[in-house]
Amino acid sequence: MNDSVKVFMGGTFDPIHNGHLRTALEIEQWLGVSEVTLIPSKAPVHRQQPERTGQQRLDMVRLAVTDEPGLFADDREVRSEDASYTVLTLESFRREIGVNTPVCMVLGMDAYLSLPQWDRWQELLTLCHVVVVKRPGWVYEPCELMQEISKKHETKDQQRLLTSPAGHVIFRELTPLGISATQIRQLIREGCSPRYLIPDAVWNYIQKNKLYGFKNEGK
Ligand code: ATP
Ligand code: MG
Repeated sequence: MNDSVKVFMGGTFDPIHNGHLRTALEIEQWLGVSEVTLIPSKAPVHRQQPERTGQQRLDMVRLAVTDEPGLFADDREVRSEDASYTVLTLESFRREIGVNTPVCMVLGMDAYLSLPQWDRWQELLTLCHVVVVKRPGWVYEPCELMQEISKKHETKDQQRLLTSPAGHVIFRELTPLGISATQIRQLIREGCSPRYLIPDAVWNYIQKNKLYGFKNEGK
């Protein structure tokens, strides 16, 4: 078990679903680390605004990880005064753990391919490694720039992520789960139950707070 590696997954988690949770758990086990941190973003700058508030999305992440000892919710982006920028989050990790501790950022394929649109994206690989998870429905069709970055930074050996602080990209195929938060929001809006796609605790929270257009008991 490697306790001195920081592994995290950011996202809007609007809401968190089993695709996120299973990904986090499988990465935890594959890397042999004791913790994976889930960080809901405040207001993502490069994409559509979340439907629910940061606090509500954070509440749902907290409920989702309660029973899983290796998964944690981190409130730094939701609490921050600023919009969420991954590079700022990485800098705040570095202030806490120093420059030598390995940091791994877990990204779905869609997020990885959008990397050049992120603020100060060229600095990201100086601050962390990137674990890219294949996602059903998203093929690896990189633009020339991403092809270059992948080629320059790719490793096939996960040990390299545990023994250096930053700079590698690794692709990992996990149990493919074609679940998205968009699909969950749509199901709820249409009056259908999202059960078994999200944890029951999250579904109960959504019903109690009447989120995503929830009106009745669901079908
Ligand atoms: P939305 O449909 O609102 O965009 P989402 O399901 O894509 O929601 P996000 O919060 O946008 O969830 O994603 C956070 C991170 O989790 C991203 O890196 C994304 O690629 C990854 N991710 C989301 N769903 C899956 C999944 N089913 N399998 C693997 N990775 C996933
Ligand atoms: Mg998404």
